[in-house]
Amino acid sequence: MITDIKVIAFDADDTLWVNEPYFQETEARFCSLLEDYLPHHTVSQELFKTEMANLSLYGYGIKGFMLSMIETVLQVSENTANPEIFHRVLEYGKEMLNKDIELLDGVEEVLKALFGKYRLVVATKGDILDQERKLKKSGLEHYFHHIEIMSDKKEKDYLKLLKHLDCRPESFLMLGNSLKSDVLPVLALGGHAVHIPYHTTWVHEQIDHTIEDPRFYQFNSMADILPHLIS
Ligand SMILES: [Mg+2]
Repeated sequence: MITDIKVIAFDADDTLWVNEPYFQETEARFCSLLEDYLPHHTVSQELFKTEMANLSLYGYGIKGFMLSMIETVLQVSENTANPEIFHRVLEYGKEMLNKDIELLDGVEEVLKALFGKYRLVVATKGDILDQERKLKKSGLEHYFHHIEIMSDKKEKDYLKLLKHLDCRPESFLMLGNSLKSDVLPVLALGGHAVHIPYHTTWVHEQIDHTIEDPRFYQFNSMADILPHLIS
């Protein structure tokens, strides 16, 4: 049993619902769109570089991704791309924004089981309007006491959340698919962190070392956590 937990925070993208595969699908279509200019992997590298350069300006989410795709079109085509290509990019982005929500296995069962026993919150990065829309569409909103849409998930961002929730780090458990965003900063503050890996992870979220911490737990699926939280 993991004891003395009061608040359980869930990451949203690739923890509650499918997200990263949609970005990868769109990126593959985007690379095909520009294949007359450069090979796929080169376009992909250019896009990633542009995204990283823009991250502090646009933040995380689909709209920033759309702007980075547009900028990449201009770079890759040396400002000669046909307007049709820009139309396509905007369409790809709007399709992503309008996607249905696909919940991951065991999510609803776990929320139902924990509801009423802990304070449940969502702690997610991304665009506020998009994340709010996804939560509404997911049908999960009523399980959560609080929804925190964060511009980033660094220690200072979690500190702000803990303060808002009036929760000590030792009583806080964060659950998510990203070691970098959902696990490391929470452990650094003295909180508990559960990693549920998703089959694919954005390069930006990857880390290359192992984690050893008594407050760190790793499970293959969301439902595996229940025996550790409910006696
Ligand atoms: Mg995630």
